Amino acid sequence: MDFALLKDNNIVKALSKAFKEGKNVNSYVLQCEKQLADNLLTWCADVVLCKNFGCNDCLTCRKVFSGNHLDVFRLPNKLKEKNTDKMEIADVRFLLEEEEKRPVEGDKKVFLINACNSLKGVAVANWQNALLKTLEEPHKNVYIFIAVENAQGLLPTIISRCQVLTCQKTKEEEIVNYLSRQGCTQKVAQLATLLCDGSLPKAEEVVADTTYLVALEEVVQALKTTTSTKNALPFVALLHNHKDDVDKYFQIITAVLMQTLHYRLHQEKFVLSSWEEDVCSICAQYSIQAVLAVTGLVEKAKKDIDSSVNFSVVIDNLVADVLEVKFRCQI
Ligand SMILES: [Zn+2]
Repeated sequence: MDFALLKDNNIVKALSKAFKEGKNVNSYVLQCEKQLADNLLTWCADVVLCKNFGCNDCLTCRKVFSGNHLDVFRLPNKLKEKNTDKMEIADVRFLLEEEEKRPVEGDKKVFLINACNSLKGVAVANWQNALLKTLEEPHKNVYIFIAVENAQGLLPTIISRCQVLTCQKTKEEEIVNYLSRQGCTQKVAQLATLLCDGSLPKAEEVVADTTYLVALEEVVQALKTTTSTKNALPFVALLHNHKDDVDKYFQIITAVLMQTLHYRLHQEKFVLSSWEEDVCSICAQYSIQAVLAVTGLVEKAKKDIDSSVNFSVVIDNLVADVLEVKFRCQI
């Protein structure tokens, strides 16, 4: 994942504004996906240290992004004897000693704590308690950022001493553009955007797994060509053949049908432009009411399979019910 992408991240923008206007605090908790934590923390350090509050262009930025800025410290410290990705008291002790020393390159020091893996286990309160005092009485030019997936996992005493910033979902258009810049084809970029629910790490997972594109093409064909119970067999067979990854097929059926709604109602959320003709032809078969009813049926089928109802029965009923609903809710 490249750094440029997070330039438009809501946390980076909010921090940049706060530091520019002098309305910043010293300690922040960032709520974000685990896969984004390291890069997002780097951006936070950059906003603090860069004279332009994160321009991604100056010497300071280059040093921060290449990991060579001497006033940026990452914790947990991977260099310590025990190589672990969990915060320990030793990490906090290091921070407390280091914050007493003068900065080397400028007049500020930044500590980046990736605590995504540090909120479980028996000793989880220890490192947090050790950190409390410095959060309460922060050194003037010392900045601490703590990244977690869910701030509720931190001690309330930590949260009350920090400002909490939450990472928002990435917009569809930004994800498509990002993936295209990474060299994805238009189709793959659109597919990944469709299935990732605003999460870049999830989008990259979809890109890496070529079976998603195959599944999407199969689902689109099935929705287009299954017009009545007379020709429903291929659709039933498709789901039977994918018993092991039927959740993927369910997810794609729902996502494609929701795209037909967006195509009709919210163009800004329509991402499958490479399949526009197919989507049009599915629109012609499924009214808006039918789409909503079918997504409910898929959800129910998923629950039934999860609670061990016979797979074949669930699939047969699902396809029959979909066709029934499609017929009943005709346009
Ligand atoms: Zn800069």
